[in-house]
Amino acid sequence: MADIEEVVEAAQGLKEVSKMIKDLSGFAHSTVTTTLSLSEAEVASLRVAFACLVCKGPVDKPMFSTCCRTLIGCKACVVEWNSSHSYCPKCRAVDLENSVHEVAGLSEALAPMEKLFI
Ligand SMILES: [Zn+2]
Ligand SMILES: [Zn+2]
Repeated sequence: MADIEEVVEAAQGLKEVSKMIKDLSGFAHSTVTTTLSLSEAEVASLRVAFACLVCKGPVDKPMFSTCCRTLIGCKACVVEWNSSHSYCPKCRAVDLENSVHEVAGLSEALAPMEKLFI
């Protein structure tokens, strides 16, 4: 069980992540409806920000880890990873099981990101 400090930290991290996603999903939407083009470097950094660290694809059912305050991957991938590794795939902090939390309500916000992986 996460202690109160971790929960507060996770909430703060989520705020940052949600803001980033909000900014970026607006950005991704605009690339679909307009001719605004992203540089390869921008696309690459978006891919990195929203890629699952396990399957390298767009995150499905995002899981947030309090150890590095990052979206680390798809729920299924993280569960799979955790069955054979006890450390975080991003920062390698141990006790991943207690650091990782499913982020509800982000799947829709993340959907536009899938276009960046085509
Ligand atoms: Zn994955
Ligand atoms: Zn971590």
